[in-house]
Amino acid sequence: MYLVIFGPPGAGKGTQAQYISEHFEIPHISTGEIFRENIKNDTPLGVEAKRYTASGNLVPDSLTNAMVRDRIQKADCSRGALLDGYPRTIDQAREFDKMLAEKGSQLSAVINLKVPDGEIVQRLSKRGRSDDNPEAIKRRLQIYHNQTEVIVGYFRDRGLLHDIYGVGNIQEISKQILDTLDKVTHKNEQHS
Ligand code: AMP
Repeated sequence: MYLVIFGPPGAGKGTQAQYISEHFEIPHISTGEIFRENIKNDTPLGVEAKRYTASGNLVPDSLTNAMVRDRIQKADCSRGALLDGYPRTIDQAREFDKMLAEKGSQLSAVINLKVPDGEIVQRLSKRGRSDDNPEAIKRRLQIYHNQTEVIVGYFRDRGLLHDIYGVGNIQEISKQILDTLDKVTHKNEQHS
Protein backbone atom coordinates (compact mmCIF):
# COMPACT_ATOMS: atom_id res chain seq x y z
CA MET A 1 0.00 0.00 0.00
CA TYR A 2 1.41 3.35 -1.06
CA LEU A 3 0.50 6.45 0.96
CA VAL A 4 1.55 10.10 0.77
CA ILE A 5 1.64 12.64 3.58
CA PHE A 6 1.29 16.08 2.07
CA GLY A 7 1.43 19.63 3.46
CA PRO A 8 3.56 22.77 3.77
CA PRO A 9 7.05 22.67 5.30
CA GLY A 10 6.74 22.49 9.09
CA ALA A 11 3.23 21.02 9.04
CA GLY A 12 4.40 18.05 11.12
CA LYS A 13 4.60 15.56 8.22
CA GLY A 14 7.73 13.85 9.58
CA THR A 15 6.27 13.41 13.06
CA GLN A 16 2.95 12.03 11.79
CA ALA A 17 4.73 9.88 9.20
CA GLN A 18 6.42 7.94 12.03
CA TYR A 19 3.05 6.93 13.47
CA ILE A 20 1.60 5.97 10.07
CA SER A 21 4.70 3.98 9.15
CA GLU A 22 4.56 2.01 12.44
CA HIS A 23 0.81 1.45 12.22
CA PHE A 24 0.85 0.03 8.69
CA GLU A 25 4.36 -1.48 8.91
CA ILE A 26 5.59 0.21 5.76
CA PRO A 27 8.80 2.24 5.43
CA HIS A 28 8.74 6.02 5.82
CA ILE A 29 10.51 7.63 2.87
CA SER A 30 11.32 11.31 3.33
CA THR A 31 13.00 12.80 0.25
CA GLY A 32 14.22 15.74 2.39
CA GLU A 33 15.87 13.25 4.80
CA ILE A 34 17.55 11.38 1.94
CA PHE A 35 18.93 14.67 0.60
CA ARG A 36 20.13 15.72 4.08
CA GLU A 37 21.81 12.34 4.63
CA ASN A 38 23.61 12.63 1.26
CA ILE A 39 24.65 16.21 2.01
CA LYS A 40 26.05 15.11 5.40
CA ASN A 41 28.04 12.31 3.75
CA ASP A 42 29.20 14.57 0.91
CA THR A 43 28.05 12.14 -1.81
CA PRO A 44 27.74 13.34 -5.45
CA LEU A 45 23.93 13.45 -4.99
CA GLY A 46 24.42 15.49 -1.81
CA VAL A 47 26.76 17.98 -3.49
CA GLU A 48 24.22 18.50 -6.29
CA ALA A 49 21.19 18.67 -3.96
CA LYS A 50 22.81 21.22 -1.64
CA ARG A 51 22.91 23.77 -4.48
CA TYR A 52 19.11 23.89 -4.19
CA THR A 53 18.17 22.88 -0.63
CA ALA A 54 20.37 25.50 1.09
CA SER A 55 18.34 28.37 -0.42
CA GLY A 56 14.98 26.63 -0.02
CA ASN A 57 14.60 25.81 -3.74
CA LEU A 58 13.43 22.47 -5.10
CA VAL A 59 15.92 19.90 -6.29
CA PRO A 60 15.22 19.28 -10.03
CA ASP A 61 12.46 16.76 -10.80
CA SER A 62 14.74 14.49 -12.85
CA LEU A 63 17.12 13.97 -9.92
CA THR A 64 14.34 13.62 -7.33
CA ASN A 65 12.26 11.21 -9.44
CA ALA A 66 15.28 8.98 -10.18
CA MET A 67 16.09 8.85 -6.47
CA VAL A 68 12.53 7.82 -5.52
CA ARG A 69 12.32 5.27 -8.33
CA ASP A 70 15.49 3.70 -6.99
CA ARG A 71 14.33 3.79 -3.36
CA ILE A 72 10.96 2.08 -3.94
CA GLN A 73 12.66 -0.81 -5.77
CA LYS A 74 14.30 -1.82 -2.47
CA ALA A 75 13.12 -5.00 -0.77
CA ASP A 76 11.63 -3.20 2.25
CA CYS A 77 9.02 -1.60 -0.06
CA SER A 78 7.55 -4.94 -1.17
CA ARG A 79 4.34 -4.12 0.77
CA GLY A 80 4.37 -0.42 -0.11
CA ALA A 81 5.68 2.76 1.49
CA LEU A 82 4.72 6.12 2.94
CA LEU A 83 6.15 9.07 1.00
CA ASP A 84 6.82 12.30 2.92
CA GLY A 85 7.79 15.44 0.98
CA TYR A 86 7.20 13.76 -2.37
CA PRO A 87 5.62 14.39 -4.84
CA ARG A 88 6.06 18.16 -4.72
CA THR A 89 5.36 19.15 -8.36
CA ILE A 90 2.85 18.01 -10.99
CA ASP A 91 5.69 16.38 -12.92
CA GLN A 92 6.70 14.39 -9.83
CA ALA A 93 3.08 13.39 -9.17
CA ARG A 94 2.69 12.06 -12.72
CA GLU A 95 6.04 10.28 -12.63
CA PHE A 96 5.18 8.71 -9.26
CA ASP A 97 1.94 7.33 -10.72
CA LYS A 98 3.96 5.78 -13.54
CA MET A 99 6.49 4.24 -11.14
CA LEU A 100 3.71 2.64 -9.10
CA ALA A 101 1.93 1.38 -12.23
CA GLU A 102 5.20 -0.23 -13.35
CA LYS A 103 5.23 -2.07 -10.03
CA GLY A 104 1.62 -3.19 -10.62
CA SER A 105 0.54 -0.91 -7.78
CA GLN A 106 -1.17 2.43 -7.22
CA LEU A 107 -1.54 5.21 -4.67
CA SER A 108 -4.13 4.37 -1.98
CA ALA A 109 -4.51 7.70 -0.14
CA VAL A 110 -3.01 11.14 0.47
CA ILE A 111 -3.21 12.85 3.87
CA ASN A 112 -3.28 16.63 3.42
CA LEU A 113 -2.01 18.16 6.66
CA LYS A 114 -3.33 21.73 6.78
CA VAL A 115 -1.51 24.41 8.79
CA PRO A 116 -1.86 28.20 8.29
CA ASP A 117 1.20 30.17 7.07
CA GLY A 118 1.53 32.24 10.27
CA GLU A 119 1.85 29.09 12.37
CA ILE A 120 4.36 27.60 9.85
CA VAL A 121 6.70 30.60 10.07
CA GLN A 122 6.64 30.42 13.88
CA ARG A 123 7.32 26.67 13.94
CA LEU A 124 10.16 26.76 11.39
CA SER A 125 11.95 29.69 13.01
CA LYS A 126 12.07 27.65 16.24
CA ARG A 127 13.24 24.41 14.56
CA GLY A 128 16.73 25.63 13.67
CA ARG A 129 17.60 23.42 10.69
CA SER A 130 20.14 25.06 8.33
CA ASP A 131 17.43 25.71 5.72
CA ASP A 132 15.18 27.25 8.40
CA ASN A 133 16.69 30.76 8.07
CA PRO A 134 14.17 33.57 7.33
CA GLU A 135 14.98 33.85 3.57
CA ALA A 136 14.82 30.08 2.96
CA ILE A 137 11.58 29.76 4.99
CA LYS A 138 10.00 32.49 2.88
CA ARG A 139 11.21 30.82 -0.32
CA ARG A 140 9.97 27.38 0.73
CA LEU A 141 6.51 28.70 1.60
CA GLN A 142 6.39 30.58 -1.71
CA ILE A 143 7.33 27.40 -3.62
CA TYR A 144 4.79 25.41 -1.64
CA HIS A 145 1.97 27.78 -2.68
CA ASN A 146 3.16 28.25 -6.29
CA GLN A 147 4.30 24.77 -7.30
CA THR A 148 3.34 22.18 -4.72
CA GLU A 149 -0.16 23.11 -3.55
CA VAL A 150 -1.56 22.71 -7.10
CA ILE A 151 -1.21 18.95 -6.86
CA VAL A 152 -3.91 18.95 -4.17
CA GLY A 153 -6.40 19.20 -7.05
CA TYR A 154 -4.71 16.36 -8.91
CA PHE A 155 -5.20 14.06 -5.90
CA ARG A 156 -8.63 15.40 -4.92
CA ASP A 157 -10.07 14.76 -8.39
CA ARG A 158 -9.18 11.10 -8.01
CA GLY A 159 -10.82 10.85 -4.58
CA LEU A 160 -7.49 10.23 -2.86
CA LEU A 161 -7.22 13.37 -0.72
CA HIS A 162 -8.09 13.47 3.00
CA ASP A 163 -7.81 16.86 4.72
CA ILE A 164 -6.62 16.87 8.33
CA TYR A 165 -6.17 20.07 10.37
CA GLY A 166 -2.59 19.95 11.61
CA VAL A 167 -2.72 22.37 14.57
CA GLY A 168 -3.31 21.02 18.08
CA ASN A 169 -2.39 17.97 20.08
CA ILE A 170 0.01 15.67 18.17
CA GLN A 171 -1.65 12.47 19.46
CA GLU A 172 -5.13 13.69 18.56
CA ILE A 173 -4.00 14.63 15.05
CA SER A 174 -2.37 11.22 14.72
CA LYS A 175 -5.59 9.48 15.81
CA GLN A 176 -7.57 11.36 13.17
CA ILE A 177 -5.05 10.40 10.49
CA LEU A 178 -4.98 6.72 11.45
CA ASP A 179 -8.79 6.52 11.74
CA THR A 180 -9.09 8.05 8.26
CA LEU A 181 -6.51 5.70 6.75
CA ASP A 182 -8.01 2.65 8.48
CA LYS A 183 -11.35 3.44 6.86
CA VAL A 184 -9.75 3.91 3.43
CA THR A 185 -7.72 0.71 3.58
CA HIS A 186 -10.65 -1.27 4.98
CA LYS A 187 -12.85 -0.03 2.12
CA ASN A 188 -10.14 -1.02 -0.40
CA GLU A 189 -10.05 -4.55 1.03
CA GLN A 190 -13.84 -4.93 0.76
CA HIS A 191 -13.74 -3.84 -2.88
CA SER A 192 -10.90 -6.11 -3.93
P1 AMP B 1 11.78 18.67 3.51
O1 AMP B 1 12.54 18.03 4.61
O2 AMP B 1 10.74 17.76 2.90
O3 AMP B 1 11.20 20.01 3.87
O4 AMP B 1 12.83 18.94 2.32
C1 AMP B 1 13.95 19.76 2.52
C2 AMP B 1 14.45 20.28 1.18
O5 AMP B 1 14.83 19.16 0.35
C3 AMP B 1 13.42 21.04 0.36
O6 AMP B 1 13.35 22.41 0.72
C4 AMP B 1 13.95 20.84 -1.06
O7 AMP B 1 15.07 21.69 -1.31
C5 AMP B 1 14.46 19.40 -1.01
N1 AMP B 1 13.40 18.43 -1.38
C6 AMP B 1 12.80 17.51 -0.57
N2 AMP B 1 11.87 16.81 -1.24
C7 AMP B 1 11.86 17.29 -2.50
C8 AMP B 1 11.10 17.00 -3.67
N3 AMP B 1 10.14 16.07 -3.67
N4 AMP B 1 11.38 17.71 -4.80
C9 AMP B 1 12.35 18.65 -4.82
N5 AMP B 1 13.09 18.99 -3.76
C10 AMP B 1 12.86 18.34 -2.60
